[in-house]
Amino acid sequence: MNEKLLNYILSGQLMKFYKSKEWKQLRLEAMKRANYECEHCKRNGKVTTRNTINKYGRNTKMDVNHIKPVRRFPHLALEIDNLEYLCVDCHNKADGKDEMIKKEPKFVNEERW
Ligand SMILES: [Zn+2]
Repeated sequence: MNEKLLNYILSGQLMKFYKSKEWKQLRLEAMKRANYECEHCKRNGKVTTRNTINKYGRNTKMDVNHIKPVRRFPHLALEIDNLEYLCVDCHNKADGKDEMIKKEPKFVNEERW
């Protein structure tokens, strides 16, 4: 992985990472690989693309998500296998799931009887 980009992530300058041409290129590849359809909706037998009209009568926002979050897995930031193309709803759910993982205690005390 490109050292300059890795340093952006490690130093918390994620915006610089997301503005890099390497990321933009990979992002396009991930979108193309997903056939421009939300990959989570697809698993549920639903087709959602940016042309899908949402309940507010607007086009659906779509984005490329890192399955393993960039901050914790910086070396996977440019792995296409770590990317998925998601609609905003699925993206929020995916992020929420990640929050829950973070909140999990490091260890659980054994119950005492
Ligand atoms: Zn979706």
